[in-house]
Amino acid sequence: MGIAMQIVEISTASIPADLMGAQVEKVNVKIGKLSAVVPESLRFCFQIVSQDTPLCNASLIIEEIPIVIKCLDCNIEWTIDEPIFSCQKCNGGAVDIVSGRELDISSIEIAERDE
Ligand SMILES: [Zn+2]
Repeated sequence: MGIAMQIVEISTASIPADLMGAQVEKVNVKIGKLSAVVPESLRFCFQIVSQDTPLCNASLIIEEIPIVIKCLDCNIEWTIDEPIFSCQKCNGGAVDIVSGRELDISSIEIAERDE
């Protein structure tokens, strides 16, 4: 719920001043699979917290970022679905998380006003 509120706050704040009162159509977010955010529940929370804001009709477009890790010994990178942090080649545990922890608003799309 806190994350949904942050998305609403940041998106509302990023509406340009001359478009105040415009409706936001889409909010595009990137969520790493390691961020422990469940897309379905985020959408649900977003609908609730966006009521009475310029985002009330906006759809939340979630792009899930896979978990990519890198072995510091072999220097290879690979994508994992489960949080298993050992190298698939040398079985070593000296790995670095390259991506998967993202939680970013990549863009918002504002509806054109008919005038
Ligand atoms: Zn390795």
